[in-house]
Amino acid sequence: MRRVLVAAALLLAASFAAGCAAQEEKKATDLVIELPEQEEPEKNDAQTDREEERSSQDAEEAETQNQEKKGILISIDPGHQSPSVDMSDQEPNAPGSDVMKTKATGGTSGRYSGLAEYELNLDISLQLRDKLQEQGYDVIMTREDNDTAISNAERARMANEAGADIAIRIHANGSESSDANGALVLIGSAENPYVGSLYEQSFSLGQSVLDSYCESTGMQNLGVQTNDTMTGINWSEIPVIILEMGFMTNQQDDLNMADSDYQVKMVDGIADGINAYCESSLNN
Ligand SMILES: [Zn+2]
Repeated sequence: MRRVLVAAALLLAASFAAGCAAQEEKKATDLVIELPEQEEPEKNDAQTDREEERSSQDAEEAETQNQEKKGILISIDPGHQSPSVDMSDQEPNAPGSDVMKTKATGGTSGRYSGLAEYELNLDISLQLRDKLQEQGYDVIMTREDNDTAISNAERARMANEAGADIAIRIHANGSESSDANGALVLIGSAENPYVGSLYEQSFSLGQSVLDSYCESTGMQNLGVQTNDTMTGINWSEIPVIILEMGFMTNQQDDLNMADSDYQVKMVDGIADGINAYCESSLNN
């Protein structure tokens, strides 16, 4: 409708072109204003042309994106946050549970790189977000900066309420032993009273992501392990994994994970694993 009106306005403007040039714009504008549904009468021809061009480009881009959209929403949770954010209050470890845990802890840090875990987690998560979006996934982030105050239960509920299909929680490990190295995945066990029913899907997702991640990076594969004490898992209503990407207390793992070229392999591996899981489990 708007396009027809713009065309009509241009025709009317053109019919005045033979008249007084100084008056042309004003007259055309007056006439355009009289058109009942004209939204933006003061625009000149050049502006209108540029906008039409732009809006048709936008339409083409939107169409291309829609064709590639997978209709799958992935929640990415970069673990922890800056120590400047006070997350020391307690919250229930699971829905209806009397067990209370700190809302979110500070995480570990790179013994050799000097990087904080919360920074590394966010860095990788943002790269993963971009990679997944390029592949046609929809992504929700529980935090996109280091200063957001969001508890572990809130992170899980955010993914639940957004209608996410799966939740990927990004962490790095620490150990008293500098020898400890490698990547692992944590999931709720089959006996977990809150997320036990998600065990098989979470295991399958975890195995797919971990295998692909270790293959891509060369990181030692420590396997999918169960843990029923994690608030951010216990509150989940969708398949959920924690990927512990490597040990920041191990020299090789730490320096590898801080390296931007290595990070590309990390992100590629995680994305490939998510892709493999989604193709086998969600698209049928
Ligand atoms: Zn962590």
